[in-house]
Amino acid sequence: MKYTSAMINAFRVSPLRVLAVAMAMAACVHGKEAILFLSAHPDDTDGFAGTAYLLKDKYDVHVVDLTRGERGLGQAGQDDASTGYRRTQEEIRAQAYCGTTLHFLKEVDGSAAAGDRPVYELMKILLEIKPKAVFTHWPIDNHVDHAQCSALMANALRKSGLKPERYFFEEWMRQTRNMVPTYYVDISGVFKHKLKILSFYECQNKNNYLLRMTEKRARWRGKQRVPAVEFAEPFTTWDGRPIKGGVLESLVETAVAPGAASVDITTEADLP
Ligand SMILES: [Zn+2]
Repeated sequence: MKYTSAMINAFRVSPLRVLAVAMAMAACVHGKEAILFLSAHPDDTDGFAGTAYLLKDKYDVHVVDLTRGERGLGQAGQDDASTGYRRTQEEIRAQAYCGTTLHFLKEVDGSAAAGDRPVYELMKILLEIKPKAVFTHWPIDNHVDHAQCSALMANALRKSGLKPERYFFEEWMRQTRNMVPTYYVDISGVFKHKLKILSFYECQNKNNYLLRMTEKRARWRGKQRVPAVEFAEPFTTWDGRPIKGGVLESLVETAVAPGAASVDITTEADLP
């Protein structure tokens, strides 16, 4: 299709936006609908692996890593690129086990930015798969790469014109702060698979620390769920409101957090 200036003017937006809309319209929807998880580092899967595993039969699950975790093993491993290579191989094995499609945005661990290049790369993926739902890190996170992911997703969605359901997951509790869960997903039935997925991140699991902390956190979140379960993963939405009939609510394992309704979700539109 050729895009004339008249067509572009008709949209009253940039040629890039016209292209984005055209690609979205042209994308073939066949088979399962897609969902997408964007995380900063390969092992950030610990924020959502159980839920992704629960959803993988129903949806075409895509995982996008902003970086390859190049700084995860010290300066020498970053300088000779061995860490990035090793963690890429670990992530490929982990996502193969989970049955997802893996993408890398090739930012550098510790210096990631939601700049034009990664925004464009993510936008291309979004337009290709037209996800029903997207998940990423909660914006308040003291790891700069995690925080960048939410800005990156917001910008890529805005440029794409797509409006999928938007969810946020929790990373380490000492990093993700002030996230009030809207949903708790019971991952007890698939927890052994979550641990298996995380076990592929060998270089980040010294003394089994990654798996032990993940188990502790999942137990803690499981106790908060109503009714309580052995293991849970928390998620929230952009404004704390549950998304009726959404991807997470398609799981019988999902419970709406009892505190969700108490979050002040007033916007200017609600004011008298
Ligand atoms: Zn991380």
